[in-house]
Amino acid sequence: DPRIHGIQTKIRVVPDFPKQGIMFQDITTLLLDPKAFKDTIDLFVERYKGKNISVVAGIEARGFIFGPPIALAIGAKFVPLRKPKKLPGKVISEEYILEYGRDCLEMHVGAVEAGERALVVDDLIATGGTLCAAMNLLERVGAEVVECACVIELPDLKGRERLNGKPLYVLVESH
Ligand code: 5GP
Repeated sequence: DPRIHGIQTKIRVVPDFPKQGIMFQDITTLLLDPKAFKDTIDLFVERYKGKNISVVAGIEARGFIFGPPIALAIGAKFVPLRKPKKLPGKVISEEYILEYGRDCLEMHVGAVEAGERALVVDDLIATGGTLCAAMNLLERVGAEVVECACVIELPDLKGRERLNGKPLYVLVESH
């Protein structure tokens, strides 16, 4: 698809952010280009429209940028998966291991019901730990995760292998 190349050129790579040795993939430059931003959303919408997805779950923080326009366009609800102690209602929590230390995602109880068909959205998959925790939250309440969708994959980190066979759809790979 010719739109992919346009999207790729708008992702800025920032060396040594947030720390030495990390090549940070910055999607804020993609958001500055209305055509590339729209193409990004359109590609996901074309893939998921008509697939009976009832909930788009977006991961804090950049999954909150791409998830809601996809949800609106496919007629699904949007559910934020947040870092600890941000959501005001009753939550379920899922801890996951990072390179240094651990992190956690939370979801409001009652936001997603058993049997719902869910799409998980984030900007980027690195080790896959974040998407894995997100899927666990949804599956713990009885939802079916149809697919995970990210703008960018870092395939060298093999995050795909941590998704327990769940399909992952990405627009751009970065090495
Ligand atoms: P993982 O859990 O797959 O190792 O890391 C993915 C999470 O970290 C995502 O929520 C993503 O937003 C964030 N992340 C890690 N590296 C990058 C990066 O280079 N660029 C951006 N935009 N996000 C990153």
